[in-house]
Amino acid sequence: MKYVFGNWKMYLDFDESNILINGLLQEKFDSEKVGLAVFPSTLALREVTMSAKDTEFAVGAQNVAWVPKGAYTGAVSAQMFSDVGCHYALVGHSERRHVFGETNDDVRKKIEACLETNLIPVVCIGETEDDLEAGKREYRLKKQLMKAFENLELNGGKVVVAYEPVWAIGTGKACDPATAQEVHAFLKTELKQYFDADITVLYGGSVKAENVVSYVALGAIDGVLVGGASARLDSFTELIRAVEGV
Ligand code: PEP
Repeated sequence: MKYVFGNWKMYLDFDESNILINGLLQEKFDSEKVGLAVFPSTLALREVTMSAKDTEFAVGAQNVAWVPKGAYTGAVSAQMFSDVGCHYALVGHSERRHVFGETNDDVRKKIEACLETNLIPVVCIGETEDDLEAGKREYRLKKQLMKAFENLELNGGKVVVAYEPVWAIGTGKACDPATAQEVHAFLKTELKQYFDADITVLYGGSVKAENVVSYVALGAIDGVLVGGASARLDSFTELIRAVEGV
């Protein structure tokens, strides 16, 4: 089984999100071959969750606040997302880290909040172009993993990791599959320090229907996290069909 997760970012409004989920549901994808989840905007999430209930699509939040309730204007907590039927939450997406200034400490608190409320955090990590040029890819990834997972108690919960090189997100400059496979193998070895269980690791960064098979055909790559190509019915359907065929 390979996973395809679609991050709709702030690409789609309420109506567009509902049209897209309903279009995807008509396609009837094979849940034995592909594990599917979409991450709509917070505004559309409740409606999308209701449409996707008991279907092959799980739904996740794009971001969570770590405090369950209180005076945090503009925030929505992990607890609140869990209460309305979310299964997953993206945590530490590159845009949250680099546009909104989220730190490794924030990411850690969000992971803990997800685990406390039965949400599966999809923990996004990745090196920047500067890291890459400075030969610091492994250093950056090790540090992000350590801050996220050192002494973390899963308490029966689960985490997913998404390797998303920052320079590959939304740029059309995808990481070449052989390199992605090497990085995933490295991450899987690192993750053994923190968890007994095998951790699902997704690749993200300019994945589309035309290149998705070159990633999911590789053993260490458990699936993909897709941004732009997940926000349209034709491109997302084509991409999922390609993964079903692997
Ligand atoms: C993402 O937002 O997680 C992502 C990978 O975006 P894109 O597929 O557009 O590069």
